Amino acid sequence: MHLTGKHINYYHICHRKLWLFHNGISFQHTHENVADGSLLHQTAYPQRAARYREVQLDGIKIDFYDPQDRVIHEIKRSDKLEHASIAQLQYYLYVLERHGVREPTGLLEYPKLRQTQTVVLTDADRQAIPDWEASIEQLVNRPECPPVINKLLCKQCSYYEFCYVAE
Ligand code: SF4
Repeated sequence: MHLTGKHINYYHICHRKLWLFHNGISFQHTHENVADGSLLHQTAYPQRAARYREVQLDGIKIDFYDPQDRVIHEIKRSDKLEHASIAQLQYYLYVLERHGVREPTGLLEYPKLRQTQTVVLTDADRQAIPDWEASIEQLVNRPECPPVINKLLCKQCSYYEFCYVAE
């Protein structure tokens, strides 16, 4: 099974969200700020377009890859749930390495906050990622949807009403 960046991201946020997403249940545009990275990128960095390539490998799609410096640029509106964005970017680095790219790096960019965060892949990450893949595969193939997590972040989630508002 080929995983997408969203599988990795949601795995690090909520297993229920991962399961719902994988099984085709979606409620976009209710609560979640569906970040359009491309649009944000064009607005924040219009001069950079020529430098980057879009890369599709296995299940992932990297919108802004700089092949010269081997850097993936990921543009975000906010640093909320940053751990999940970092994990997603690490997965992209892992897939690039799997396809022979030598020591790529990632850069999380927050143009609105004027901040950046460099993301690298350590040996510990290289060991952990196959476990993420196995765990995700096992989770999404369960017949039952995992339980709600009752966390503050649920209020920002597109599944909020589905999860908490009784019919
Ligand atoms: S609302 Fe909360 S429990 Fe439901 S999918 Fe989203 S994060 Fe998970």
